[in-house]
Amino acid sequence: MQSPPTIVSKLLPQSASQDMRSLGRGELTGCPWHDVKAMLRDVGLRPTRQRMALGWILFAKGDRHLTAEMLYEEASNAKVPVSLATIYNTLHQFTDVGLLRQIAVDGSKTYFDTNVSEHHHFFVEGENALVDIPNADVSVDRMPLAPEGYEVARVDVIVRVKRKT
Ligand SMILES: [Zn+2]
Repeated sequence: MQSPPTIVSKLLPQSASQDMRSLGRGELTGCPWHDVKAMLRDVGLRPTRQRMALGWILFAKGDRHLTAEMLYEEASNAKVPVSLATIYNTLHQFTDVGLLRQIAVDGSKTYFDTNVSEHHHFFVEGENALVDIPNADVSVDRMPLAPEGYEVARVDVIVRVKRKT
């Protein structure tokens, strides 16, 4: 009923976490309430009611990509009384501690990914959906040098696709 592997894998370096994630992921639904509490404690966030409720909505359904508005709607449907401002705050807190990964598709759309391992995305234009691309399926042949005094932190590839007409 408890799944330490899932919680631990969230905190591992991204490259090392892939195998453990896939092992632990399925167990998350076993006792999600307990898992979310442990997950929050592990990253130093107080497990408040709102964080617990939002964490449960976010993480109990496997890997997915959500905007603040999508989470707000799910919270409303689940009768969780929470404001959109709280949703934004919580999403950013979760991102800051590494529970979520933020993906800015364009100026107006920011998604939060519950899968924090290294991977890339298709963005389906017109349907506003993000689809994972496994890390191994993308290779960046030539990278620019980072400006002096900087190093490349991460490369996010977003391939925009649209339905064939
Ligand atoms: Zn993703």
